[in-house]
Amino acid sequence: MSYLLIENVNKTYNSTSVLHELNLEVMEGEMVTLLGPSGCGKSTLLRCISGLTDMDKGSVHLEGRNITPLAPKDRNVGMVFQSYALFPNMNVYDNIAFGLSMKKKSSQQIKSRVEEMLQLIDLTEKAKSYPHELSGGQQQRVSLARSLAVEPKLMLMDEPLSALDAKIRKHLRTELRQIQKRVGMTMLFVTHDQEEALTISDKICLMNQGRIVQTGSPDEVYSKP
Ligand code: ADP
Ligand code: ADP
Repeated sequence: MSYLLIENVNKTYNSTSVLHELNLEVMEGEMVTLLGPSGCGKSTLLRCISGLTDMDKGSVHLEGRNITPLAPKDRNVGMVFQSYALFPNMNVYDNIAFGLSMKKKSSQQIKSRVEEMLQLIDLTEKAKSYPHELSGGQQQRVSLARSLAVEPKLMLMDEPLSALDAKIRKHLRTELRQIQKRVGMTMLFVTHDQEEALTISDKICLMNQGRIVQTGSPDEVYSKP
């Protein structure tokens, strides 16, 4: 049974169609990549799933439940962006704790969860550092930990590695894939980088002009004729 099911989504901006009768199915624990050129509608699709953008038509089901009418905060969907969007005046610990304190967890629950997340991203020794004291790669790991801390049902990642230089990008994508498998997190990952998609995905969806034009495992999508 599908875990995330997107059916017949249409989205138009100023009478220009950006998403066209789009369908997508993701299984539990899968790492699925949306791969396509700039402007093909990848970010718009993620924003429709998270509820940050309203769709004109269509539905999003998560674990069998129709989440289309729900506000973003009620969807249980995490999001990581290219810009790490950490709070500059909070240290790493408080950044990761932020979502948990919004959920009114006890300070003991928060502490154990933040410590678990710090271990997961291997930054325990940076708990008291501020974002500007970290490298880009470290900041993006904190951003991931902050999203994972509240245990979302689905993680949406919008070009999370694109702002990093090539060496760190390669390192971090391997790390991200390991974390995703270890936690069993279902992820939808957006990129325009073919090599990135090939190395981290269970399934690749090729997107072009608001449609998914091909779906398959990395081998299926890129097998030589
Ligand atoms: P991608 O993530 O694949 O680069 P986007 O989803 O960001 O693509 O954009 C798809 C198309 O929708 C582009 O042509 C873009 O200019 C347009 N678009 C995105 N957001 C808006 C908006 N808020 N208002 C008007 N047009 C938009
Ligand atoms: P990673 O590969 O883990 O992303 P780097 O190799 O880029 O990290 O950084 C190595 C070390 O240099 C880290 O401990 C980090 O704290 C420090 N560092 C990197 N960039 C900055 C910066 N702009 N300001 C302060 N410290 C930095």
